[in-house]
Amino acid sequence: MCGGAKYLEIQQEVDLKPYNSFGVSAIAAEFADVTDAAQLPELFAYAGHNHLPVLILGGGSNLLLVNDYPGLVIRIALTGMEFDEGSGKVQVKAGENWHAFVSECMNKGFHGLENLALIPGTVGAAPVQNIGAYGVELEQFLESVQVYDSGQDEFRVLSRDDCDFAYRDSLFKHEAGQGLIITEVTLQLSRQWQPNTSYQALQDALDTAEPTPQQLFDTVCAIRSSKLPDPARLGNAGSFFKNPVISNDKYKKLLEEFPDLPSYPVAEEGLLKVPAAWLLDALGWKGRQRGAAAVHEQHALVLVNTGSASGEDLYLLAQEMSTSVLTRFGIALQPEVRIL
Ligand SMILES: Cc1cc2nc3c(=O)[nH]c(=O)nc-3n(C[C@H](O)[C@H](O)[C@H](O)COP(=O)(O)OP(=O)(O)OC[C@H]3O[C@@H](n4cnc5c(N)ncnc54)[C@H](O)[C@@H]3O)c2cc1C
Repeated sequence: MCGGAKYLEIQQEVDLKPYNSFGVSAIAAEFADVTDAAQLPELFAYAGHNHLPVLILGGGSNLLLVNDYPGLVIRIALTGMEFDEGSGKVQVKAGENWHAFVSECMNKGFHGLENLALIPGTVGAAPVQNIGAYGVELEQFLESVQVYDSGQDEFRVLSRDDCDFAYRDSLFKHEAGQGLIITEVTLQLSRQWQPNTSYQALQDALDTAEPTPQQLFDTVCAIRSSKLPDPARLGNAGSFFKNPVISNDKYKKLLEEFPDLPSYPVAEEGLLKVPAAWLLDALGWKGRQRGAAAVHEQHALVLVNTGSASGEDLYLLAQEMSTSVLTRFGIALQPEVRIL
């Protein structure tokens, strides 16, 4: 295909194994890389004309592909970043690798994202999940996103408020956000260095109360590498389930039987967050296997592909895990990973 945008190639029958961090096979009926945002209207017109569903793919690190995909997979490969020295604003294209972007910001003296180092995936997927780690969430820095609205066939800019951010959640995960493709993100970063060491595990790992940006960045990377498996070596998608939010009353009842159950405050009154990893660990899930699908030895929240697992093996294992938590604790776990 070739319109006003760069030349566009659509491939047929593409195995998505190299494009998802679980490393499972799933065949996409059609597949295209987008390197110019102007290709999106053409691709959606093509999909509409051929009655194909569309899946937007970034780095594939928050997806579980259970089945082949019968439609068009569009991989966002838009690159480029612009730094405004005076204001601290950064505009970055959606296909940039998140970790490389965080590193570039730090090296250029644009601060705030250091706590989010080493999160896999692309910049464009970061607002979808409102990525967060070590006491920081993306929404704290996000000013706006540029989207292609495939329903209206137009490019628009959404403000932070428009994005409806919440814990690992945003407009883009809900009905109202379907058909919005993030092409560019604008962040307001700080030209003044002010470390955020509010997260206890980070404080404990740092040997100074006044870390430099590089020290904080390196410490976050070191903690993450010691805890989470590298998807390049052992297929995984990070935490598979969200931490459930339950009522204070339910928590009090659970404490009678499980006095060690931890909890964390949330913004909403009368509610608390409990760690999904604790619930799964209490039920002995660490290290358990279902064929080549397994629960990581050190982390009950991380499902891994030990080699030849299919998406279905991982899915069935995840279902067994959530059923056991529901039966024992009466808590319904929600996946953090998108299951397709
Ligand atoms: C080892 C490991 C550790 C992780 N740690 C964390 C962590 O600490 N915190 C955290 O929040 N997450 C974590 N994750 C999850 C994951 O890294 C993030 O969710 C990341 O933002 C996903 O990026 P991606 O490009 O791989 O998205 P993908 O998996 O490709 O896509 C995820 C979702 O976003 C949609 N999407 C992708 N790009 C766009 C776009 N441009 N416009 C619209 N929709 C789009 C997709 O359709 C899909 O629904 C971890 C994952 C792994 C493997």
